[in-house]
Amino acid sequence: MRPPRRVEVAVIGAGPAGSAIAAALATSGRDVVLLERDTFPRHKVCGEFLSPEATRCLDELGCLQAFHERKPAVITRSRLRTADGAQIELKLPAKAYGLSRKCLDEFLFANARDCGAQAFEGAAVRKVEVGRRQQRRLHVELRDGDDRSDYMVEADVVVGAYGRRSRIDRRLKRPFFDKHSPYVAFKRHHYIDRSADVPPLEDHVELHAFDGGYCGVSFVEQGRVNICTMVERRLLRDGRIDPEEPFQSLQRGDTPLGRRLATLKPCDVETCAVAQIPLSTKASTHNGVLFVGDAAGMIAPLAGDGQAMAMESALTLAGLLHDRLPRVPRRQWSREWRQRFGVRVRLGSWLQAAIIRPAIAGLLMRLLGRFPSVARALVVATRGR
Ligand SMILES: Cc1cc2nc3c(=O)[nH]c(=O)nc-3n(C[C@H](O)[C@H](O)[C@H](O)COP(=O)(O)OP(=O)(O)OC[C@H]3O[C@@H](n4cnc5c(N)ncnc54)[C@H](O)[C@@H]3O)c2cc1C
Repeated sequence: MRPPRRVEVAVIGAGPAGSAIAAALATSGRDVVLLERDTFPRHKVCGEFLSPEATRCLDELGCLQAFHERKPAVITRSRLRTADGAQIELKLPAKAYGLSRKCLDEFLFANARDCGAQAFEGAAVRKVEVGRRQQRRLHVELRDGDDRSDYMVEADVVVGAYGRRSRIDRRLKRPFFDKHSPYVAFKRHHYIDRSADVPPLEDHVELHAFDGGYCGVSFVEQGRVNICTMVERRLLRDGRIDPEEPFQSLQRGDTPLGRRLATLKPCDVETCAVAQIPLSTKASTHNGVLFVGDAAGMIAPLAGDGQAMAMESALTLAGLLHDRLPRVPRRQWSREWRQRFGVRVRLGSWLQAAIIRPAIAGLLMRLLGRFPSVARALVVATRGR
């Protein structure tokens, strides 16, 4: 099967944002193609923490029951810890969940297809250009096993849902592309020794802050524990983190994180890694392409809200498009995106900058420990509705 030659809407990328907008548009009767470079299932670097807002989006997409059938881990509390032992614990405003990206992304992609979107894996978009009558022309590389072929799709509207950074951004000359990002991230799944003498992890998401980075630890489905860490690149240069064995490096020293990691054994051989994690601001439209999810702007991972934001932005744009197609609502979308997400994204960046500096993190922890209502207000401020 090959994608259609002409469609109303072409969506590039089938992460939570792309699959959500494709499903929503197809449900409302629109002709939509979803093009994904990878093939599912596949791992992805992520803390795999789904905030309560994410479940609202899944409900809106009509797939909340199917989500629960995947038996995600339930998370009701967060525990923040620093290397010197400071700790605060907060009850989350509502139930959150832990589900691997391997499971979530595959399931959302299947949902988009079930809703009527023409969804293709192994379809990498290489270039987007302006075609006749302002339509967009997508150059797609189709992969089938070892075979590769070039293909062309024309669309009235193109939605870029291809994540935080892509070669398409370079071709589109998006200004953020040339800015250097100092972060790298690693993730791996583990089994846990529940008898170990550390605070229980059940129901919790733990966030450990240290000089130059932080590490999230929480359960996902099937009793597995996901560890995901984001660190400044300088830690690799200084030899403090070995990129081959990042979690062993973090286990060094008698710290709460070291003690937590000592209770975990890898169940996946592979550690996933990514570099270039741009938290700088981006425009939510460029050259006639409308962006959703991380492609429009990324919230710092410590907020644990990126997947929810990806789906929320997708559902919001789907609503706008439904009313206006075949017009491309560029200005409305830029305004809407800024109003909904602008403050949250900036606040997330500030919080991240604060917690990876031990002196500021220490002060912040003491402040939040004394005034838990401030901590709760911060959690709410990084959230949407
Ligand atoms: C270290 C780290 C930890 C995080 N932890 C959390 C967390 O715990 N909770 C949370 O909610 N969020 C977390 N996030 C954020 C979250 O991962 C993102 O916000 C979310 O994945 C954004 O979804 P998306 O659909 O916009 O992009 P993505 O999930 O990145 O999906 C983009 C898709 O587009 C595809 N693609 C890319 N280029 C092309 C192309 N040229 N053609 C076709 N397809 C293409 C990719 O293969 C991918 O499938 C974390 C992020 C990082 C970096």
